[in-house]
Amino acid sequence: MKALVLESYNNLVYKEVPEPIINPDEVLVQVKACGICGSDIHGLDGSTGRRIPPLIMGHEASGIIVSTGKEVTDWEKGDRVTFDSTVYRLDDWYTRKGLYNISDNREVLGVSPGTYRRNGAFAEYVSVPQHILYSIPVNVTFEQAAMVEAAAVALHAINISGLKPGNSCAVVGSGMIGIFIIKLLKIVGASVIIAVDVDEKKLLKAEKAGADHTYITSVNDIPEKIRSLTSGRGADISYEAVGKNDSVNMAVGLVRRGGTVTLVGNTSPRVDLPLQKVVTGELKILGSCAICGEYDQILEYLKAGKLNVDDQISAVAPLSEGAHWFERLYRKDEDLGKVILKP
Ligand SMILES: [Zn+2]
Repeated sequence: MKALVLESYNNLVYKEVPEPIINPDEVLVQVKACGICGSDIHGLDGSTGRRIPPLIMGHEASGIIVSTGKEVTDWEKGDRVTFDSTVYRLDDWYTRKGLYNISDNREVLGVSPGTYRRNGAFAEYVSVPQHILYSIPVNVTFEQAAMVEAAAVALHAINISGLKPGNSCAVVGSGMIGIFIIKLLKIVGASVIIAVDVDEKKLLKAEKAGADHTYITSVNDIPEKIRSLTSGRGADISYEAVGKNDSVNMAVGLVRRGGTVTLVGNTSPRVDLPLQKVVTGELKILGSCAICGEYDQILEYLKAGKLNVDDQISAVAPLSEGAHWFERLYRKDEDLGKVILKP
């Protein structure tokens, strides 16, 4: 089969490789669409240590089942599927507690951090365990299904934040995850949604996605402006989708006493924390990791036409041109949004 292989750092090669061999509990999926994730781009140069070559990356994918292992019972050839990016074990203590996203020995498709290597979906075929598969509704396209992973990451953050209808919310960072948080907050019933970003263009996207108020970080005293929108108190919940010192501190500064700060971004390994504000304000600081079952809900929203993901897809290109698109995304000389590759 043909695959886009990270042969060495910064060196993606489209070439012939052996087809994956499936285990008895796995299916072979013919890939129809696979999105390029920010973590793939960051992994390209070795800086994250999570894409050790040689590797086929790609974990935001969809396709058609072409063969099934002999223990596979609920899926058959021809099924249109998408799948979780996390490959978790069913016999794990965390998994049994409903926390498979933080379970022991979990692996991520298209990732090789040194302890394991699991080839992903920038290829004609990928092997996938049956228990992480989801069926794609008939009115949802393969490209839309490849967007489910990113939207599900955003929904997981909302789900763990304990949002109640009518809560006021601040979203720091209007990249793809931030935009999906805004869109989903609108669907689940947040009252006021405030977006904060360093980039004016991203704030325009935030406004289109449903943000009621947007603030660029260069203006003074954003916390005060947000208090004026929330009865003088601050937001009930903030979501941080950048993962840097300034943005995390912004997210902490925007919530009311007793409020919740939900951390999704993790670009920097360490940040400072305004300890006294956190302690004396009894803030809840939550980390949100990946996805824990949110696929169903996102697929339902897509089926019902409630969630628009098309406006986040900026290009659909053949997998053979993958190296070119990775290079453009890596250079960051333009805001490309989501690029989907098709084998
Ligand atoms: Zn991703």
